[in-house]
Amino acid sequence: MSGNECLNDEVCDESGKNAFAVFCKRCNCLILREKQASFVAIQIELPLSEVKTSANNANEQQIDKESLNEHWYVENIYTFENMGFSNTVNDTKYLVCAECEYGPLGLHYIKSNQSYLSLSRVAFRKNEN
Ligand SMILES: [Zn+2]
Repeated sequence: MSGNECLNDEVCDESGKNAFAVFCKRCNCLILREKQASFVAIQIELPLSEVKTSANNANEQQIDKESLNEHWYVENIYTFENMGFSNTVNDTKYLVCAECEYGPLGLHYIKSNQSYLSLSRVAFRKNEN
């Protein structure tokens, strides 16, 4: 897959990495330090609403999803400062905030160990000065 140039100058540095640390929108928990992930423009579908880790009666087909096109690609889950995982769907897990379980924030592919964090689901904090 090519075409990974960053379309979003606001959040990428010159090498396409995240220019700013990434935080949970709800509880402000640090998810990823700056320059740890690469911008990728790929389409990933995520449920609109929160996925409960304890849900055992959720019918996947009844969950509304949206297509998100801008993600941080994280090669290894140990790159995350804090990250939780929600329910497993096929070979993927949803990423949720480790502190408050807000999410899904993105997708984790179990077999490849790759994660995609959706830009629109997380917050950024720009350094002062
Ligand atoms: Zn949180």
